[in-house]
Amino acid sequence: MKRLATFLLLVVSFLVRSNPLSAVPAENPFSWPIGTVVLDAGHGGTDPGAISESQATVLEKELTLDLAVRVASMLAREDELEVVMTRSDDSFVALADRAAVAAEHDPKVGKGILLVSIHANSSTFVEPSGFEVLIKHTEKRVRFLENGVKDWVMLRYANHTMGELNRLLNRENLLLASSLERSMRDEFPSARSRGVKEQDVWVLNASKVPSALVEVGFLSNRDDLVALADPQWRERMAGAIAAGILGYINRD
Ligand SMILES: [Zn+2]
Repeated sequence: MKRLATFLLLVVSFLVRSNPLSAVPAENPFSWPIGTVVLDAGHGGTDPGAISESQATVLEKELTLDLAVRVASMLAREDELEVVMTRSDDSFVALADRAAVAAEHDPKVGKGILLVSIHANSSTFVEPSGFEVLIKHTEKRVRFLENGVKDWVMLRYANHTMGELNRLLNRENLLLASSLERSMRDEFPSARSRGVKEQDVWVLNASKVPSALVEVGFLSNRDDLVALADPQWRERMAGAIAAGILGYINRD
């Protein structure tokens, strides 16, 4: 009897797999192993981002570049992982150009690409503190196939409906953000985690690849500012961001 049941199970699974009409989705274009990580250091050049108002003057644009460079050098140790930065010095990069770096970079057949933007927070109040990870609103729809898209983009996305691609992308955004938040929480258990939040952020809304934005701390909070200004703390935060990215890539 048991043998018969096993046989029937095999027949059923064969039928499911071989039936072209069973709803086997075309391969999820976001399930390919990540070959490229795009790191986006927030602000830069004429755009300083947030500025601390107490103690030493700290500019958000300097913090984000410092962190992005540290994360890049950590990820560069990984085999077969390409790291691309939207800026590697104190230059101004328009928001559209930041999103375009990830949208136009061909990750090669069978490989995936993701984007992580690095920022520091600020508030008009001194109390808010801690880190958070932002993703785009799930109902904000991305247009994958616009006029004039490159051939590899067409090949990657043409087998799916726009609704399906948006659903898959939202899922990946959440997995990436959750991995980053978990990693930061592990590294800084006494800091306040403000969690993963959906927010209207231009770079995230424009991204056609899995993406998240980390806000590492508040320049407007005294304790956070002490941490942000400390290179050792920044090395630890960079390590947490790198580990969060690798956790997502390795599906830990
Ligand atoms: Zn910012």
